[in-house]
This record gives sequence, structure tokens and C-alpha cells, in this order.
Amino acid sequence: MRLSTATALCAALCLPSFAVAEDARVALQCADAFDASTGKLTAAITIVVEGGRIKAIEAGRTSPAGATVIDLAGHTCLPGLVDMHTHITSETSPRGYEEGFRLNPADYALRGTTYARRTLLAGFTTVRNLGDAGNVSIALRNAIDQGYVAGPRIFTAGKSIATTGGHADPTNGRNWELTGDPGPKEGVVNSVDDARKAVRQRYKDGADLIKITSTGGVLSYAKNGQNPQFTIEEIQAITSTAKDYGLRVAAHAHGDEGMRRAILGGVDSIEHGTYMSDATMALMKKHGTWYVPTLSAGAFVADKAKTPGYYPEIVRPKALAIGPQISATFAKAYKAGVKIAFGTDSSVYPHGGNAHEFVLMVDAGMPANVALQAATVRAAELLDQGDDIGHLRPGAYADIVAVAGDPVRDIAIMEKVAFVMKNGVVYKQGGIATAP
Ligand SMILES: [Zn+2]
Repeated sequence: MRLSTATALCAALCLPSFAVAEDARVALQCADAFDASTGKLTAAITIVVEGGRIKAIEAGRTSPAGATVIDLAGHTCLPGLVDMHTHITSETSPRGYEEGFRLNPADYALRGTTYARRTLLAGFTTVRNLGDAGNVSIALRNAIDQGYVAGPRIFTAGKSIATTGGHADPTNGRNWELTGDPGPKEGVVNSVDDARKAVRQRYKDGADLIKITSTGGVLSYAKNGQNPQFTIEEIQAITSTAKDYGLRVAAHAHGDEGMRRAILGGVDSIEHGTYMSDATMALMKKHGTWYVPTLSAGAFVADKAKTPGYYPEIVRPKALAIGPQISATFAKAYKAGVKIAFGTDSSVYPHGGNAHEFVLMVDAGMPANVALQAATVRAAELLDQGDDIGHLRPGAYADIVAVAGDPVRDIAIMEKVAFVMKNGVVYKQGGIATAP
């Protein structure tokens, strides 16, 4: 790869003002490109970028007038990748549970800037963030949009909505004197009225979507990772209220009954889906519900659970059982024709390793080009952002990544993204970060 002038590079370095990049005209000469609509490679193209968006796409490697050329010889260009399940403001650590007592939102926010940068440099130009504390991901989203921090576009649920003692009750496992009784504002509901208020609070907070925890979870300080934790009426109150505000709803679910209620209650996606039965797969298809599998999380927790002390004892048996099951369910759901979007549950494993999910998806039986579609066009569809992201086409944001070689033949090269452009700004070139 070669940069003809320093313009694009300088633009990336000149934070926080991105104005230089948005005015520049840049041409990316790609040896090959991934057409997310067809799932096929296109042969050489040149992508003309202007004003942060794709202006034109020309066949072959051309040098459009007035454009700074970036030579991506030997590279395949793809739409910027999308991870539909992240927690970008925290990260796994054996100290994680203890830190929950000591750290404040500002601590998580500052750490989040590092995680965001790592995620972007791994080629993920957009993430859907499904749960934080203190609305830190909302502040991070805004700081990235305003150019203060390098990171992906964030669509965030803010704080997840749970029921008392449920996965995402922020006081699980805490000393009584430290807990209080969290309510809808803190994301804990116990009635239809609470459920409506919790959604309206998130709208007020500036969330882009809603996340609920419809069953128990692996890493929460609680015994059961599968039990249903909402009534259908509570879920319906959440989805109907969310619809009023134009917010989609994602449902964390491991157990089958909680999944069934979430689908019947009208959620847009099921996250993890570990113990999804054949009947529930059929229900997903009937309702058009998406599945976001998060194989990376399953693999990581199953492995770390073998290390004594990494997780609290109450968490270990859940991690050992649930982790390996997700891959088997994913393989079955794919064959059954359930709609699948790419998501990893980053923070459960270290941020920046998001692309390993592709390898796990292909290992479980999904063709590489379909896995790439899951992280581009399909993810954009679930986000309802198909006009702006997920495609290499005129009018879309100039969110473009490139890998050295053919990712359809060798999916593992997705773990070594060589070039990253977001909104027309180059953040990584020749495998080296160019942003501060
Ligand atoms: Zn999660």
C-alpha cells in the first residue's frame, strides 16, 4: 500500500477536527472487493470518497481527477465491519467483580476510549452496544461522533433492562448496605408500568435502542443462567413503548422459555440463544426475529472457567455448560434458516479480538461469505441503517476496510485487517495505526 500524498494521513492525525478529511477527495484502488449484497468478490474497483461518504465506484484501478490515491494492491476491500453485540466500556478481568465496587463512571469512560480505538483498528467501524453502567456508552458515542475520541459508530442501548435479581440487576451479589432497591431509572422493572417507564427513561437518556435480559445470564452473580425473568406482558409493554419512540429491542436469552416469551413479545433480536429449541427456531423464522450468536463469548468463558478464581464460584458451572453449547445451537439455527447477524459480546473477551468470531462461525459450518454478510449487510439491516452502512456503494458512509488476500478463501485474515477508513478518515494503513 502506498499513500500518494500525506493528505489522508494528516487528516487522521489532526484530531479532533475531521474537517480536512471530509473535504478531501480520495480514491482507494482495491485489487478486489466484497459485494455484501451478493456475497461475492467483484474483481478490482476504485472507490472514490468525498465528504465522508462514497461518491462513486469505478471498475478497475483508476486515478480519478483531483483525488489522492491510496494503493491497495493485493488487498480485498470490504464494507466497514459491524459488531452487533458489544459492551465497549468494560472488559473481562479476574478483578472485574471487585472493581464494580470501586470504579466510577468516569473510570469506565476513560477505559472505554481505549477499547473503542482497539475495536475500530480491528476493522469494526460500527457497533451496537448492549448494556453499560452510568450511561457511559452514550457519552462515548457522542465523544466519538464529535471527534474527541477515535472509535466506531456506536448505537447503544445504555443500561440494559432487567427484573429484580435478574441478569443486569446492578445490585446482584452486593452487600445489603450498598444496594438499595433499583427501579426503572436504574434499569430494573417489576411490572408493565415499570417496563414502560424504563423504556421512556432510556429515550430520555439518549439511547438508540433497548436491551432486555429475558433470562438469567452466565456472568451475573446469580445461580441460574437460563430461567425466564420477564412476563410476556412486561416484554410487550417494552416493545410497544419502544416502537413509539422508534427504538428496536434486543433480548439477551439463554433458556428456551425466556426466548419464546421474548419472540412472542415482539423483540427484534435474540442474543446468545444458547438453548434454542427446534420449535423456537421455527418461531424465530415465523416472526422474522434475528439471531445474534456471540460464539466468541461462549468460547472465552468456557476456557476461563477452567482457571480457579477467574470467575466467582457461582459463575463457573454456568460458564462451563453454556459456552460450548452456543456453537452447536448456531450451527443448527443457520441450517434451519434463522436470520443471523454477527455479534461477539466483546468485553466478555478482550476488545479488538472481534474478528475471531468469523473463524468460529466458519468452524461451526457457516460459509465464509455468509459470515461476512452477517457482519455487513445483515447487521446493517438489523440496525435499520442499510442506507448508510454495510455496503460499498455510492451514498453510503466511507466506512471501508481492507485485508491482504481473499477473505472468502481464508477467513482468518479478517483477524489482520490492514486498512481502516471510517467516515472518510484513515485510521490504519499497511497494518499500522495512523490515528492518535
Ligand atoms: Zn452481552
